[in-house]
Amino acid sequence: MFDHDRPEEECGIIGIVSKDRKFNAASNIHIGLYALQHRGQESAGIATYQDEYLHIKRGKGLLRDVFKPADFENLSGNVGIGHVRYSTTGSGYAQNVQPILARYWGGMMAISHNGNIVNCKELMEQVVQRGSIVRSSSDTELILHLISIQKERDTLKAILGVLNKLQGAYSMVLIANGKLIGIRDPFGFRPLVLGKIDNGYVISSESAALDVMDAVFEKDIKPGEIIISDGSELKSIDFKKDERNALCVFEYIYFARADSVIDGTSVYEVRKRLGKELARLNNVSADVVIPVPDSGITTAIGFAREADIPFEIGLLKNPYVGRTFIHPGQSERDMRVKLKLNPIRSVVKGKRVAVVDDSIVRGTTSQRIVKLIREAGAREVHMFISSPPITHPCFFGIDTSIKKTLIASRNSVEEIRLFLGVDTLSYMTMEGLSKAAGKSLDELCYACFNGDYPVPVIEDSEEGKLLLEDYRVLEM
Ligand code: SF4
Repeated sequence: MFDHDRPEEECGIIGIVSKDRKFNAASNIHIGLYALQHRGQESAGIATYQDEYLHIKRGKGLLRDVFKPADFENLSGNVGIGHVRYSTTGSGYAQNVQPILARYWGGMMAISHNGNIVNCKELMEQVVQRGSIVRSSSDTELILHLISIQKERDTLKAILGVLNKLQGAYSMVLIANGKLIGIRDPFGFRPLVLGKIDNGYVISSESAALDVMDAVFEKDIKPGEIIISDGSELKSIDFKKDERNALCVFEYIYFARADSVIDGTSVYEVRKRLGKELARLNNVSADVVIPVPDSGITTAIGFAREADIPFEIGLLKNPYVGRTFIHPGQSERDMRVKLKLNPIRSVVKGKRVAVVDDSIVRGTTSQRIVKLIREAGAREVHMFISSPPITHPCFFGIDTSIKKTLIASRNSVEEIRLFLGVDTLSYMTMEGLSKAAGKSLDELCYACFNGDYPVPVIEDSEEGKLLLEDYRVLEM
């Protein structure tokens, strides 16, 4: 949240189709995307399809910056897809803003993607060598190119041929031949759900979007499943082979909205159980439990109940301070944390304070938060983190891709404690995490805690960075 000192989600996606040709897909997608704004704040876009034409509006910024009421008159069509983006593979350049459209041998196609293709560089090289002109640096455009060069001239078979080549994380929605297609990779790294509306269907990254779109939850799209619908019929194809499931465990810890249900499990309940588990694993001596808002709130509720210690709001968040420029000076960064969070002195003064947070990436923000709490008069500060130490970068769509920036990759827990300036520092264990999520260790991805990547990745020896060429395009 601050200076990217949290793992950042890459994207949120929505697709909708109705058999009613007067249905305005765009305005419904727009409403749904608001429920996914937490998954990406750098750009937003909606594409719709009508009478063999695609209409699109996309741009940089939040949804409220990109869309104006008049846009929805132009975005006609009963099928559409939408996207909110926080860039990792490919930069935040305008060319990478999604959805991406293309004409191919089957007509017009549009695509929105959440995740990261780890063999992107190798595949991109193949399409360039075959003569394609690549105009963006995103792995999403790569998918369109791969579809276009398939020998198979049936769209669905061509897509299946491409999926065989892709390695990594991808939940995506496409418009092809006027139909809506939803695809979740065989590991199921990113969530994807199917909902029902009158006369049609919705596909979304999270179930919270279905609620605001008045859609009824139908099911989680399974890892390795393709859904195709024209609004009337719904077809499902299973392309999973023997891959294990590997839903990103951070969806439960931090990324997803607490009101979403992922793969049958309520995010809110998992966070509460994480708090309980964290309290059970530690001998907590404190006068008050406070969360780091907003993501630590639910976990702190569970923690306080289990430890039988009063829960209080000890840090107030200013919701009007959005992303700001990253300033180089240390004092500027301190100021930014101060702008976003302010301690409530009466809650922490003279107390032994247990602070509950979800993760520590670089540690700099946590250090500043501790400083604020101490300056407000706390007698002791004990920090409880609901994830294990992040020791490895993520290559599946989360912005923690440089190993040396991860404080736990080069410091012991005791060294981190000293750096943060807390009296005690306690992390969640992998087993505790698995228990709270109600899923076995081999059903989730935990690679950023143990380096056990479900898909092989090539790390740069110096920085632990994915060897992935960024096809940089100068801003127009
Ligand atoms: S490496 Fe970590 S952040 Fe990335 S998908 Fe796996 S659990 Fe999620």
